[in-house]
Amino acid sequence: MKKYYLFILFFISFNLVSAQLSPQSKKITEKFFSEYEELENRTPALKKKKGYTNYKELLEFLNNISAIHPDKISLKYIGESSKGKKIPIMFLSNNSKNLQKLNIWMQGGLHGDEPASTEAMLYLMHTLLNDSKYTYLLDKIDLAILPMANIDGFLKNNRYAANGLDLNRDHTKLMAIETRLIKDAFVQFNPDVALDFHEYRPFRKDFAQLSTFGICSAYDVMFHNSSNLNIPENIRIMIDTLFTKNAKDELDKINLKHRNYMKSEKISGEIHFSQGTTTARSSSNSFALNNVFATLFEIRGVGIAKTSFKRRVNSGLTLALSYLKTSYNNTDLIKEQIEIANGMSNEIIVKSDKSIYSDKIQAIDIDTNELIELDVMMRDAKKPIAKLIRVRPQGYIIKKEYSSIISKLKNLGIEMSQIQNDTLIDINKYLIKDYNDNFLVYEKMKLQEVKSELVDDIIKFSKGDYIIYMKQRRSNLIAELMEPEAPNSFVSFGLIKTKIDDILPIYRLNN
Ligand SMILES: [Zn+2]
Repeated sequence: MKKYYLFILFFISFNLVSAQLSPQSKKITEKFFSEYEELENRTPALKKKKGYTNYKELLEFLNNISAIHPDKISLKYIGESSKGKKIPIMFLSNNSKNLQKLNIWMQGGLHGDEPASTEAMLYLMHTLLNDSKYTYLLDKIDLAILPMANIDGFLKNNRYAANGLDLNRDHTKLMAIETRLIKDAFVQFNPDVALDFHEYRPFRKDFAQLSTFGICSAYDVMFHNSSNLNIPENIRIMIDTLFTKNAKDELDKINLKHRNYMKSEKISGEIHFSQGTTTARSSSNSFALNNVFATLFEIRGVGIAKTSFKRRVNSGLTLALSYLKTSYNNTDLIKEQIEIANGMSNEIIVKSDKSIYSDKIQAIDIDTNELIELDVMMRDAKKPIAKLIRVRPQGYIIKKEYSSIISKLKNLGIEMSQIQNDTLIDINKYLIKDYNDNFLVYEKMKLQEVKSELVDDIIKFSKGDYIIYMKQRRSNLIAELMEPEAPNSFVSFGLIKTKIDDILPIYRLNN
């Protein structure tokens, strides 16, 4: 227990007394995460000693840069945050008429306490417009950059949106105004590549139990790639073997440590490690379920105040530039692979499990300030195992009364058509055979867990009911929303209430 308290003290000193970091943390920074002084003071937070970019400074920076380069960058707003702040989005294009141009989406600040993600987006704009080594990238790329996605949270240095929701758990249920606005902009821009910049907490509470006085994470960058099995395999593979591989090479050149994203969790008193993610509620999978090449980056930063801030901004900048270069050099390949993905019609993986393997991870021992290697059992979402598989239907049908679900589908860019006349249709309906309402509340939603059975029937649908055909780019996302057992579906999040022996108001259109 003693070492746990020591660690907690250390942990608190790190978080609260940011100006005077504890001696251990100073030593760790000096030895492993030295500041990157080469980065020039070009953005608001880099120009000042204390604090991060505030709203006024953000708008000044964006207005300024668009006034200097009106031919290449324009400032627009996607709407207002729940506290009434206009949310800026920047569009970069050199307006060349290249037919093979790629659309790339980047966002920072979705979690309001991860400031280097926003600063890296600002620095990136500066670089793409002013540094002759990189201006060519706009010959083949149009960019949309959302630098401060969660403005209300960011201005309070708080992870959550003003209504208390985590915006990176909201990608299927769309309960925050910010999410709905971001989805509108995302669908309208229609990206081929989409990147989400975050920072992670290197001092996790669970880490206190490891080694003598605890450990902290040793990585500058972790890659959170999409591994949901409904994402076409060619997209999953190319993200790992092309985009991420190239970015890792760039990080190696400047001695930044990296690995695939992993986190610890405490399961019945023991520390377990897991890596990757398959969950459609967070950005990298949500993006990639649109048949888009996607990555979420985690930069070492939460809870360490402004320590190594230039190093963190440079990590984000290096990643962004690397993904842009990879995109520029592979324009045709990327377009071609998206076409292939759009034509795929695999079975639907409704549920999957993590696989388990033993791995070695590096960490910094807080007591000795040395890099150590730990043997861990890794629960791996990067290689998931399919658990519940269903045939891909021709489409889904939903009754017109379910207007809030229909508006979420529209918000996500899903194409639907309406039935013209009352008609009988041969369908599969979902009969709820098992219902576990354990009253678990997650992100303010009352979760439901169901098991359903498909039953053949012929049902009369009315004029105005919606058919959602699966022959569309976002078909894999549709499956994640509509299949009731899928962990982030409308049923799982309690948006469509049900109970045992119910028939769901969602139907499968048979092939
Ligand atoms: Zn985050």
